[in-house]
Amino acid sequence: MYKRVKGTDDIYGEDMKYWYFVEDVARETARLYGYSEIRTPIFERTELFVRGVGEDTDIVQKEMYTFEDKGNRSITLRPEGTAPTIRAFVENSMLATGLPKRLFYIGPMFRYERPQSGRQRQFHQFGVELIGSPSSLADAEAIVLADRFLKNLGLVDYTIKINSIGCEKCRGEYKKALKKYYENKLDKVCDDCKRRYETNVLRLLDCKVDVEYVKGAPKITDYLCDDCKSHYLETKEILDDLEIKYEEDPLLVRGLDYYNRVVFEIHHGKLGAQSAVGGGGRYDNLIKELGGPKTPSLGFAMGIERLIIAIKEENIPVDDVKNNEVYVAHLGERARVEAIKISEELRDSDISVVFNTMERGLSAQLKHAARLKCKLCIIVGENELERNIVILRNMETGEQIEIERDYIVGTTKEWIEK
Ligand SMILES: [Zn+2]
Ligand SMILES: [Zn+2]
Repeated sequence: MYKRVKGTDDIYGEDMKYWYFVEDVARETARLYGYSEIRTPIFERTELFVRGVGEDTDIVQKEMYTFEDKGNRSITLRPEGTAPTIRAFVENSMLATGLPKRLFYIGPMFRYERPQSGRQRQFHQFGVELIGSPSSLADAEAIVLADRFLKNLGLVDYTIKINSIGCEKCRGEYKKALKKYYENKLDKVCDDCKRRYETNVLRLLDCKVDVEYVKGAPKITDYLCDDCKSHYLETKEILDDLEIKYEEDPLLVRGLDYYNRVVFEIHHGKLGAQSAVGGGGRYDNLIKELGGPKTPSLGFAMGIERLIIAIKEENIPVDDVKNNEVYVAHLGERARVEAIKISEELRDSDISVVFNTMERGLSAQLKHAARLKCKLCIIVGENELERNIVILRNMETGEQIEIERDYIVGTTKEWIEK
């Protein structure tokens, strides 16, 4: 027997309703804000993520599924959705269709991490990218969209954390302060931190090992330049005006190199160690980095697996997927052809039908109908056909009636609704 690869999941059955629900709400919320969907390939050239996400990030250093294809190209399964979306934006000259451009995506991402609850190696994200606006209006709108999305899912137990991580101008001073702070701790921190001290000192703040040192580190918000300060302030003011609740977290830096200025994360109260359901921020230099003109932009992504855990933890009722309304059973050679015709007539009227395709007796067919939770069963028998009738049975109450051939669709519809 083959087993699925560690860190992956088969999604099916009862769980499917949660996936449909989250995806439907995601599409609907994105639509409300004028976003259109983009579907980029599952894999890209490795270089895109090394350049886009950053050489010294955990993602690029440890977590990418990278392989050489038969043409000796280095290929990587996408670990996140922003770099591919921006690659597509630049490659397809979407700039020419006017800014800002609002794009959203839903799909699988891949990261080689230690699997645990809410952390899979193949996981799924809903993400949005608002491309081309430097204004704090854009930052605020993205956070408002995220908040509305979570509210539309019915979630209440979440916290939006925000911070500003400055720009290239103010980050210089901050990096100096950070270097000074870590200088005399270098023999105590982990090897990753030692390396990053030299290559990209900001990434020291991502360390999950040397958490105590991170807590005591200088705060970026004390080093913001005037432009960054007012951009951050404006964003917060708009959120306040719209009565969006958020917390400021001066240690929030996000683990990807492309961010600047406003960043945010959303944490859920019942998710334990992996409490972040989503996050994002501004990335004013990414498009230039990936070969386009400098185009200030921002976005966020939400983890669908974690959202589903949160929905279950908050006991939010989610409608069952509406299928298996009617089971069509039949007995006898002549009845089977009539039964398949009846099934098609019902489907013409948008009624979901499970037609019996097995050679088995009536009681086995009824058992099957019950197992599939079909609400109704239509029994087509040869004797009944002689009299131009079929039997309609309510599977929940056991009540059954005879209906004339011509009235099957109409009566079945009435019985589904009652
Ligand atoms: Zn700045
Ligand atoms: Zn460390």
